[in-house]
Amino acid sequence: MKVDCIFCKIVAGELPSQQFYQDELVTAFQDISAQAPVHVLIVPNQHFNDLGEMGDAQAEILGRIVQVAGQIAAREGIASEGWRLVTNIGKNGGQEVFHTHFHLLGGRPLGPLLSR
Ligand code: AMP
Ligand code: ZN
Repeated sequence: MKVDCIFCKIVAGELPSQQFYQDELVTAFQDISAQAPVHVLIVPNQHFNDLGEMGDAQAEILGRIVQVAGQIAAREGIASEGWRLVTNIGKNGGQEVFHTHFHLLGGRPLGPLLSR
């Protein structure tokens, strides 16, 4: 656990969150500033600054994140209409919280991948 990391604190239950899922590898919780009817963040329980720090050694964690995203999409009733799974990395990626997280977004048409 990185002491000054808000997502580490959420994983540990030291900061409140609306939790969707937790197991030994990953945690999923509501984004505090939702940009779609479904906006869930899925994070590894272990601290990594971003996806660029994760690789083969984290294959199980990354696989679990993708699997949990699909489960939550199904549970939230957005699987058939479609959804998006996004991770931002670094300055150009627009990353604001430096603990790897994937945004699961859906519940409305999400528009183009990038704003112009
Ligand atoms: P990113 O720009 O990819 O780093 O996204 C960071 C996301 O974390 C944003 O969508 C924020 O709304 C969200 N966020 C920041 N603080 C919290 C928090 N305490 N609980 C839930 N989501 C948060
Ligand atoms: Zn962290």
